[in-house]
Amino acid sequence: MLDQVLDRARQRRGDAEAALFELLAIPSVSALPEHAGDCRRAAGWLLSRLRSAGMDARLVEGADGGHPLVVAEWLGRPGAPTLTVYGHYDVQPPDPVDEWRTPPFEPTVRDGCVYARGADDNKGQHMASVLAAEHWLADGGPPVNLRFLIEGEEEVTGHVLPDFLHASADQLATDYVLIGDGGFLAPGQPTLLTALRGLLYTEIEVVGPAVDLHSGIFGGVAPNPFNSLAHVLAGLKDRDGVVRIPGFYDDVEPPNDEELRGWQALPVTDEQHREAMGVTELAGEPGYSPLERRWARPTLDVHGVIGGFTGAGSKTVIPARAKAKVSMRLVPRQDPARILAGLREAVDALVTPGTRGTVTDLGGVEAVLMETDHPGVEALGRAFAAAYGAAPLLVREGGSIPVTLEFQRALDTRLLVTGFGLPDDALHSPNERMNLEQYHRGVETMVRLMHELVAER
Ligand SMILES: [Zn+2]
Repeated sequence: MLDQVLDRARQRRGDAEAALFELLAIPSVSALPEHAGDCRRAAGWLLSRLRSAGMDARLVEGADGGHPLVVAEWLGRPGAPTLTVYGHYDVQPPDPVDEWRTPPFEPTVRDGCVYARGADDNKGQHMASVLAAEHWLADGGPPVNLRFLIEGEEEVTGHVLPDFLHASADQLATDYVLIGDGGFLAPGQPTLLTALRGLLYTEIEVVGPAVDLHSGIFGGVAPNPFNSLAHVLAGLKDRDGVVRIPGFYDDVEPPNDEELRGWQALPVTDEQHREAMGVTELAGEPGYSPLERRWARPTLDVHGVIGGFTGAGSKTVIPARAKAKVSMRLVPRQDPARILAGLREAVDALVTPGTRGTVTDLGGVEAVLMETDHPGVEALGRAFAAAYGAAPLLVREGGSIPVTLEFQRALDTRLLVTGFGLPDDALHSPNERMNLEQYHRGVETMVRLMHELVAER
């Protein structure tokens, strides 16, 4: 059966491209109100496509507006695993439009790639799964149960999908959620994401005198909140990049041996890092490689300082208050609440006499750790190896993908965060593209994954 479905996919590559180009021609820019109708059009297009394939599909509307969520199911294999595929049909605004070689919503093929806004992020990615589902359904249905959740608010962090996940969790039981929002590290090298860093964002305020003071009159006895804040900021992280917050590293979950071996084997050098940032030396903790520092170690950064006199010329003021924006990137098992308590303790200890510090929590998100020791990862490995000649390398990401946390919180399930895009696909930039060979092999990978999830080993 698998061979028959793969043959069908290979014979219909032209149709697969035509389908993707139709969806790419719809300017479903979620951030711009004038494109709300286009977002709805893209949702409707996917709805009818999934219905024609034989899936039970509907649109879910938000309680207070927003762009509709496309939900489609085919649950024809009682007892078999269920695979849920996540995607988003909304795209970033195409600006600056005059930097596009061809119009962003007129899909154009050059050098084996289709150029259009959304080609990689995310229409090409989820269409590969839609096509795979169609090919299986044309031949009696896949060996697994299938569900699609394709939202229209990823680029604007909307509420329709998270609300639906939490309200309908009991109807969304699934063994795996495939999040096709990752990509290849290089041609021929697919990846599987194993963790994402979290974030704790704070504002630190230090107060001293009741009013701004004259430094000629009171300088020498006046506590200075800015000097005090400087002590605090310098004391939170030392010259080697080690964060000096009590308990900061206590719960850090180190990467496993397989992850570390994979990263060591990557052809990524210090020199490349220096060049990418335009610096002469890398910062950070000694004893950890740059990739470990970016992906698996927590860190702390100051983003801005506010207060005092910042105009032209000089003014000899001792300010009454000073503020700084400080964030911490957190790694799996670190609890933002515990880190916040430690930060408050550190600030209290570091302020100079006569000044007082307060820390305001401006929001945070936990790190995400994805299990890798389960049959879904093995099945994905075999599917990628057959379609592209290489199994996915386990990588982490320094930033966060909010939807992963929503899926983990709402559904007790395993996440597979991967994808078919290449590093130079220009996501969010002019001339975004998707390599068509990658796309077709993506369809093949998804056809194979649906088979491998139930294959006897
Ligand atoms: Zn995006």
